[in-house]
Amino acid sequence: MSAYPLGVEIACDGPTGSDDCPDSAAVRARFTSRTARQVRTDGRRNGWTTRRAQGRLLDICPRCRTHTTKEPTR
Ligand SMILES: [Zn+2]
Repeated sequence: MSAYPLGVEIACDGPTGSDDCPDSAAVRARFTSRTARQVRTDGRRNGWTTRRAQGRLLDICPRCRTHTTKEPTR
């Protein structure tokens, strides 16, 4: 890595992972959070959750989480 990104935006993947979040919410990262993992950790404090689906991580904002349909989780 030759450069650090100044900010990482973690956008919500929506309630199902295939739809965009209706609110286009994004995690508000702390100043010290530079990597996606750190930002996700920040988001978790604000109620964001991550879900693994179809081999990748989905970022779910608090609003979508409450609207999530029940999916089988393994
Ligand atoms: Zn959302």
